[in-house]
Amino acid sequence: MTTIAIAMERIEERIQKACAHSGRERSSVRLMGVSKFHSLSKIEAAWHAGLRLFGENRVQEAAEKFSVFKRQREAELHLIGSLQRNKVKAAVSLFDAIDSVNRVVLIDELGALTTDRETALPILLELHTAEDTKSGFPNLDSLYHAAERVYAFPGLRLDGLMTIAPFTRDEHLIRASFRTLSVARDNLAARFPDYAWSCLSMGMSNDFEIAIEEGATLIRIGTALFGERYT
Ligand SMILES: *Cc1c(COP(=O)(O)O)cnc(C)c1O
Repeated sequence: MTTIAIAMERIEERIQKACAHSGRERSSVRLMGVSKFHSLSKIEAAWHAGLRLFGENRVQEAAEKFSVFKRQREAELHLIGSLQRNKVKAAVSLFDAIDSVNRVVLIDELGALTTDRETALPILLELHTAEDTKSGFPNLDSLYHAAERVYAFPGLRLDGLMTIAPFTRDEHLIRASFRTLSVARDNLAARFPDYAWSCLSMGMSNDFEIAIEEGATLIRIGTALFGERYT
């Protein structure tokens, strides 16, 4: 077995345990491998170990690693990092979903580039829930405004929300961040019932068990799967 296949097994066990602990089905949580700064050979190894969902932070790096890979392998690729305006077009053609939509102008640009798509581009709105991170809409009101904006674009499909918890060992702070996201989702679902709001992307290597307990449906794992990043 490769190192990555072994890491996958360990993560899988931890996911199952967290699901059992919170009375959830294993199938209700998707595992995303966050492969930023990691080589294509590691991505290949993860794919051979059964991983089919990958996340990358930067358009350029993702294009270098995934444009050929995605033609040869069945794999889903999501953008999870902040998207610059001059990269929106490239992002729309490369990624299967944009999980880090963090401002309204981005909705306008994504919407304008997806008007003639056969299937809508799935997006998540990112909510800022931690003091020490920068990215994301600041509050529920701004999410309402953003969701309303998405309605104007039939080429976009709003699937849910994403957040990054604070980098701390304080479990209460982490849990509070995930709860904020989950409550925001409930409020949005009540106000905008046309969207499914089925995706809560939260939880990383250090906090994914807490995220699962708080309702995560997608966890984003980098270090625990691929090892440390050398940047
Ligand atoms: C890097 C990154 C991850 C993965 O973090 P790890 O702690 O290495 O698991 C998850 N989500 C986002 C948005 C990231 O940028």
